Amino acid sequence: MAVLSGKSASPGIALGKVLLIPRDCAVVQRRSIQSVSAEQVRFRAAVEASMRDLGTIKNQVLAEIDADKAAIFEAHLLMLEDPELISGVENKIESEKMDAESALSEVADYFIRTFEGMDNEYLRERAADVSEVAQRILRHLQGKKTVDLSCLREDVVLVAHDLTASQTATLDKRKVLGILTDVGGKTSHTAIMARTLEIPAVLGLQNITELVHEGDLVALDGELGEVIVQPDTRILETYRARKQTEEHLRNELKAFIGLPTITEDGRTVCLEANIGTVDDLALVQKNDAEGVGLYRTEFLFMNRTHAPTEQEQFESYKAILTALSPRPVTIRTLDIGGDKALEYLHIEKEENPFLGCRAIRYCLREREVFKTQLRALLRASVYGNLAILFPLITTLGELLEAKKILEETKSELRDLGISYSDSIQIGVMIEVPSAAMISDILAKYVDFFSIGTNDLIQYTCAVDRLNGTVNALYDPFHPAVLRLIHLVIKNAQNAGISVAMCGEMAGDPKLIPMLLAFGLTEFSMNPAFILRARKIIRGLSYEKVVETVPKFLGCEQAADVQDLLRHCERSGGT
Ligand code: PEP
Ligand code: MG
Repeated sequence: MAVLSGKSASPGIALGKVLLIPRDCAVVQRRSIQSVSAEQVRFRAAVEASMRDLGTIKNQVLAEIDADKAAIFEAHLLMLEDPELISGVENKIESEKMDAESALSEVADYFIRTFEGMDNEYLRERAADVSEVAQRILRHLQGKKTVDLSCLREDVVLVAHDLTASQTATLDKRKVLGILTDVGGKTSHTAIMARTLEIPAVLGLQNITELVHEGDLVALDGELGEVIVQPDTRILETYRARKQTEEHLRNELKAFIGLPTITEDGRTVCLEANIGTVDDLALVQKNDAEGVGLYRTEFLFMNRTHAPTEQEQFESYKAILTALSPRPVTIRTLDIGGDKALEYLHIEKEENPFLGCRAIRYCLREREVFKTQLRALLRASVYGNLAILFPLITTLGELLEAKKILEETKSELRDLGISYSDSIQIGVMIEVPSAAMISDILAKYVDFFSIGTNDLIQYTCAVDRLNGTVNALYDPFHPAVLRLIHLVIKNAQNAGISVAMCGEMAGDPKLIPMLLAFGLTEFSMNPAFILRARKIIRGLSYEKVVETVPKFLGCEQAADVQDLLRHCERSGGT
């Protein structure tokens, strides 16, 4: 038995036999050719056959998945029309009297090396596209069959160095229980596809293809990024039980779609979704979220070589607002820096990036980047119910400055005759202890707070949230974290503004009763957790849980908080 850990790419538990996808490495040996034109014709025919494949796949994806995913194959089709690639091969055949396979390998290798050598992650990932297109042509040249994952005979866990975009897009969703790869991360095609298809996946396992054999049993947890090869009976039982619980719960939770989120004694709660891309809208709808409580706009800025234009941003914001209108959509202004560095934005390397120029600090320095985003947001505001959220506010001065820039931007738009909504709500994220401590003051200047517990915990406990060595000190149960949350909610209530929570704590089933008791009525979380939260809340009585507040605030240590939570869980929240 071996326990491996990789990058969690798509949540869920899977247990099944390995289907090992061999690394596609057709052997190419240079050979002499009789006729240049015959070789060129052979190459053309292989390109045309590849185009036909891709056309079919693209249509299939369009019909069964969506236009965004089909765009990958459109991009592959475009590569097949790219003169640098295609004429490059034909010229090589002619000038070096080379066979088509060798010419193709050399030209493709050149492109792959160029892409792989690029600093930008998005462009580096394009190397995989060139390789995939070249392999497709090569297979046609060599008369080889493509591994067809669209009609599998039995249930499998796919294990591959990297799945190609077309393999992922066409795989038989009913038969593929899970996906494991050597390479790849959260933004790779495989991860995006796996999430869309709801197939649990762990990527970036480095050498999983060497560690397993065809037919081996593997257990994986896509949320934890954990993989167990040849699990023993005890682990097998645990995973089976977890999977059963997961399936049972998922089915049971469907009954909560369309129901109001209301406690037994009539307190209404709003459950919203955290999203990172327009694609996540499908999950928002499917899980019946009551709005978007946090749209992390930095994802729009990632995986590219330059910032998105105002128009591109406008289109994304408009798409989300339109799709969800009249439900509220909270869009957070660029939260870059910290662990989310972007080369093209030229953020200098810092000793302590989490304590450096990130989020609103960056935006207040780089006014044009900030104003471009604000213009896009304002223009989009007429399409729905928009709230704008400023991240990492630590002083009132920063908030006032951000609001001033927003007002300036509004006035510029007015001068141009461009309309925007006059009911946009303005909020700050409370994710730094200084902001929590002055939340009574900040509350006078905003319409709402959103508590970002992911950062609030790291700054309260002085623990870099990505540093494994001090991980144990990153503690949502620390009494200081609880007291700050309680303080912020009370200050918001006293000022008559609304308060939401969008950090991971909001979706944690153990903590929901306590947060409700503290007075929280807006929870924003991973869309997959919404129905579970609704079920919990509908089973609670606010009158009862509120009695626990002094007990939580009186806890001396995190362990006491956990004991109390366990006690509350056993006794239905009280
Ligand atoms: C948070 O800090 O809780 C939060 C939601 O922001 P992020 O995780 O994007 O930093
Ligand atoms: Mg944060």
